[in-house]
Amino acid sequence: MAYIQFLGAAGTVTGSKHLLNTSGDITGKTGVQLLVDCGLFQGKKEWRERNWQNVPLSVKEIDCLILTHAHLDHCGWIPRLVKQGFRGPIYATPSTIDLCSIILPDSGHLQEEDAEFHNKFKTSKHDPALPLYTMEEALECLQYFQPIVFGLTKEIARGVSFRFVHAAHILGSSMAEVTIDSMGGGSRSKRLLFTGDIGRMRDQHIAPGKVVYSGPEAGETADIVVMESTYGNRSHPTEDPRPALADLIRKTVARGGSLVVPAFAVERTQKFLFMLKELMESDQCPRVPVYCDSPMAIKAVEIFMKHTEEYSDETKRLVAKHGSPLHWPGFTFAQTAEESKKINDSRFPCVIISSSGMVTGGRIQHHLIQRLPDPRNTVLFIGFQAPGTRGFIIKSGASEVKIFGQMVPIRAQVTALEQFSDHADTPELMEWLRTFSNMPKSTYLVHGEPEAAAQLRDTMAKELGWKVQIAQWMEKVEFA
Ligand SMILES: [Zn+2]
Repeated sequence: MAYIQFLGAAGTVTGSKHLLNTSGDITGKTGVQLLVDCGLFQGKKEWRERNWQNVPLSVKEIDCLILTHAHLDHCGWIPRLVKQGFRGPIYATPSTIDLCSIILPDSGHLQEEDAEFHNKFKTSKHDPALPLYTMEEALECLQYFQPIVFGLTKEIARGVSFRFVHAAHILGSSMAEVTIDSMGGGSRSKRLLFTGDIGRMRDQHIAPGKVVYSGPEAGETADIVVMESTYGNRSHPTEDPRPALADLIRKTVARGGSLVVPAFAVERTQKFLFMLKELMESDQCPRVPVYCDSPMAIKAVEIFMKHTEEYSDETKRLVAKHGSPLHWPGFTFAQTAEESKKINDSRFPCVIISSSGMVTGGRIQHHLIQRLPDPRNTVLFIGFQAPGTRGFIIKSGASEVKIFGQMVPIRAQVTALEQFSDHADTPELMEWLRTFSNMPKSTYLVHGEPEAAAQLRDTMAKELGWKVQIAQWMEKVEFA
């Protein structure tokens, strides 16, 4: 019997890793064995520790990896997989490969920095503390990537093929449709759909600044669906975030403070920059210096400017009007550590955008140590904060947070705008699911906190009549 085994993102929103075995034989010798996504576990320690466990099979037995998109919780374990001996092709869209070429080495760099920190301050039970992988090892794995454009059917082995369809989540993001031809015994061919992360359905008024065009592809057909459920129990706000953002900047600047925005360097930062530019150009908010402090941001902007084929209409308009953010007066991109430190010295109101988006590492930590204790400042979250991350702690109203081993008092105003999400909420997911041309035999929910997955399962069962199960970590489900 062919099966899927959930090696990650089951019961949590990180560590996406799904094994598909078409033969039912763990060595995959009589069939094909492939992985869809290979992400890092992030957030709580109990999850992060899973990054150190091996997958329950020899990685050499995996024929290939299909990658849906370039977020670390989907791609960040690839260097570890290669380190353990995986040498198969890694299929991804061209823009996903471009993004991985900056995201993975940066992740290796952060892993090394973390290990160095633990060794210096003896804060790990391991002596010496080691990085999960190094920057060098992350660069090494890039040679195994193979570009597959959207819509092209790629044969992996005789009788097993896949194609990427648009997921509308971030630049390059895709869903993987895997087709397995008749598996003998009179059974017909099977279509499996792995959604990866699913983007927004709605218009720009509600989800403005979207880089890629809206809406995952409608009219899917699938026998088995493995689907994300991050926002399975929530609806995004429906009002335009721009007036609220302008108001926040105005008030912060009026009291002599600065706005600090933790944001993913890729996609979210570009989106936010264009929005700031529009607000300042139209005099809706004060023109203060904007610092984009992320070593990756410059490269990310360059990649983003290159892949015009995926732009939304709004992005096309903004890029035509304003050109590359790298050349805007008043907007500074800090590349070196010295340039980053200079921002710390800035005593005048400004906007600082830095990563990581969930404050799990990166330069944002230095800016928060500096700016959190001052009540004149504002910290604005524009992305999902996974439980256990520093971002989650700050956002949940804590009075202090531990950064680089020291407790930092939180006196700055802390707020969030949820409209920037790149994930479809429950009404949007339901809108997309209603476009399916058939009712899948089984749907497995992954990539969601338990409550979100449970509520989405119930909503889908009630409104669509679908058979939906919540995937469990390491669970194997047979389907043929
Ligand atoms: Zn994602």
